[in-house]
Amino acid sequence: MMEREYRGFDLFGPTSLEELITGIKGFEGRIAFLAGGTDLLIDLKRGYKKPQLVVDLSQVKELRGVQAEMGILHIGSMTPFSQLATEPLLLDNALCLAQAAGKIGSAQIRNRGTLGGNIASASPAGDSLPGLLVLEAQVSTLAQEGVRRLPIAQVLIGKGRSCLNPHELITGIEIPIGEKSFLSGFEKIGSRTAVSIARLNMAVALNYEGDSKVIKDVRIAVGALGETAFRLKALERVLEGQELGLPLLHRWEEMLSETVDQAIRGRSSHPYKREAIKGLARNMAFNLWGSEPILGGLLNE
Ligand SMILES: Cc1cc2nc3c(=O)[nH]c(=O)nc-3n(C[C@H](O)[C@H](O)[C@H](O)COP(=O)(O)OP(=O)(O)OC[C@H]3O[C@@H](n4cnc5c(N)ncnc54)[C@H](O)[C@@H]3O)c2cc1C
Repeated sequence: MMEREYRGFDLFGPTSLEELITGIKGFEGRIAFLAGGTDLLIDLKRGYKKPQLVVDLSQVKELRGVQAEMGILHIGSMTPFSQLATEPLLLDNALCLAQAAGKIGSAQIRNRGTLGGNIASASPAGDSLPGLLVLEAQVSTLAQEGVRRLPIAQVLIGKGRSCLNPHELITGIEIPIGEKSFLSGFEKIGSRTAVSIARLNMAVALNYEGDSKVIKDVRIAVGALGETAFRLKALERVLEGQELGLPLLHRWEEMLSETVDQAIRGRSSHPYKREAIKGLARNMAFNLWGSEPILGGLLNE
């Protein structure tokens, strides 16, 4: 059966969550939530999405801002990247996410683009996603059926899709910050220095045994290497209990190249990415450990 001609959409601009939920109650057509519009407007223009109702989230005040409460960092889904990049609570507790936010697109994209939109778009190269994975973030949602809280790994199901239902709104992101402070960092390689979708991205979070430089816990996630960003749990187990330094960095680089082999062997980007990921690891080591353990090793090599 042929689909009826697309006649455009109605626009609804609620100012509170209550108004939003009441306003879409019973609506059975196609809905699109409009956050910063940096992905959605392109999809509308190209005809990839044909909603009957567009819900503008820009005036829904409950969806903005960052707060810390009882060991949890709460980030409103409509918080733009420009705010996340300089937010003291993130710089202190979730540095990899602040660094990722600071490397997204251009100043204009960072002013409009939001964390909720990045999750909902679920691009394999989405820059916030590796950081959210290593921080073990939870995604809170609201729909007529009720509220849900889902681990980010469960939300990302691959091929640019999330597990969310079409009428399900991401309200916020929660990150446990607790007492055990994690050092974290984000690195990205794009095809050029500005306004560039990642060709590879990576986030790492770790902490050490006491005052030593022996890794106690580590979490690593990569993006732009397949259908969705993912954690490297086998590599994490190898790095735990090891001391920082050049031998560890070499081992890490080799294992990352093997990960690329497993993820995208046969693709045209494979030879480039299996080498490029080593550079990403080296940048990450400088970012996380500082220059001393690496440079000392390089001088002695
Ligand atoms: C020039 C350019 C450069 C870019 N560079 C980067 C980059 O470097 N890194 C990167 O990761 N991305 C980049 N992007 C992609 C885009 O900016 C991000 O994915 C951004 O996070 C999308 O957020 P938004 O607020 O603009 O979402 P929108 O475009 O408003 O929405 C995107 C999708 O998510 C849905 N949605 C939005 N908010 C919610 C919500 N709260 N609940 C449920 N669904 C929701 C929308 O309905 C839509 O389907 C770039 C885009 C452009 C145009």
